[in-house]
Amino acid sequence: MRIIQLDTLRESKQCVRVNQNRTYKPSREGLLASNVLVRLEEIGIALDEDRPLRVFNNGLVVLDDGFKTITDEKEKVDERHRKRRPKTRPRKRSARRKRTSRGSRQAFTEPRIGGNVLSEDYKNQLTRLAEAYPTLQTFSDDDGIWLQAESSILSGLARKAIFLVALPYKIGLGPRAWGFWSSGNRFWWIGPRHTNFLDGSICAFAQIDQVWSEGGDLRRLLDIYSGWTLRHLYLEVCGRWPGKQYALLDADPLVQAFYRRMQCKSDELCGCGSNSRRYAECCMPHDLRLNLVQLTTHFKRHIEGGFESRKPPDPIESFVNGRSTLPRMADVHLLIGSS
Ligand SMILES: [Zn+2]
Repeated sequence: MRIIQLDTLRESKQCVRVNQNRTYKPSREGLLASNVLVRLEEIGIALDEDRPLRVFNNGLVVLDDGFKTITDEKEKVDERHRKRRPKTRPRKRSARRKRTSRGSRQAFTEPRIGGNVLSEDYKNQLTRLAEAYPTLQTFSDDDGIWLQAESSILSGLARKAIFLVALPYKIGLGPRAWGFWSSGNRFWWIGPRHTNFLDGSICAFAQIDQVWSEGGDLRRLLDIYSGWTLRHLYLEVCGRWPGKQYALLDADPLVQAFYRRMQCKSDELCGCGSNSRRYAECCMPHDLRLNLVQLTTHFKRHIEGGFESRKPPDPIESFVNGRSTLPRMADVHLLIGSS
């Protein structure tokens, strides 16, 4: 079956009332403002075409399209955005496309070898991180530092995203972050799609994407989370994940096949990481020929916890909802203590 772009466009136009879409959690604001919806759809289509995003201060996600349609945000761009790519120079298209937002902050740095070396790297960034995400709060921990910040995602969006990020100082553990929507005094988790097994933490990029590594620019990290959240909003409203995605990189092929069958819709970009091919025209025919019972058994044997394990730890949920204090990082970061 060939999926053409126009079908996607037409289908998404019918999703205006998100509370009519029973497949997904109803939107708590009921109806997205029409201008927000239009922008969201534009971005979703652009992600499917592998076009880049930009992220402005406060986590505002826009298309990196020369700002043709979004004039009001243009003035908010700060200098570090402008430095990224002179308009006169042709854009260099990397052969390895990014699944996540390739916003304007360039941050990839080689990891340093060592133990507790990230403390200064992170602490030295907090001032400029607070400039980019003005609601930033930080909390010290025996094993690192916690960040909490709001992200506005789309101009005019009634809800906000909140990121809670555990940043260990020891290299090799990596950040662990959870995303929640916030509206009024209500908070609800953003997931489970493209969250990690066992703790429902944000899975916004793979190492091979080389978009961020430990010690890198924390603004960039939160920008990537903002782009991931934008994708979640699109999924909620339009019923499909926009843009490039992976189905368990490095896992065995049968595990990947099962993951794709369970998670990928036929008109999404294929979970094998394709930049352009929809699942229906890529791996889906192969995946459908496999025995589902055997695949299920195989998946359960290889993936601890399975899909149901993708939910935030209780102490994280409890903290975000104001029912408890912040947990110790060691109690919720799966790799602390096991390394
Ligand atoms: Zn594929």
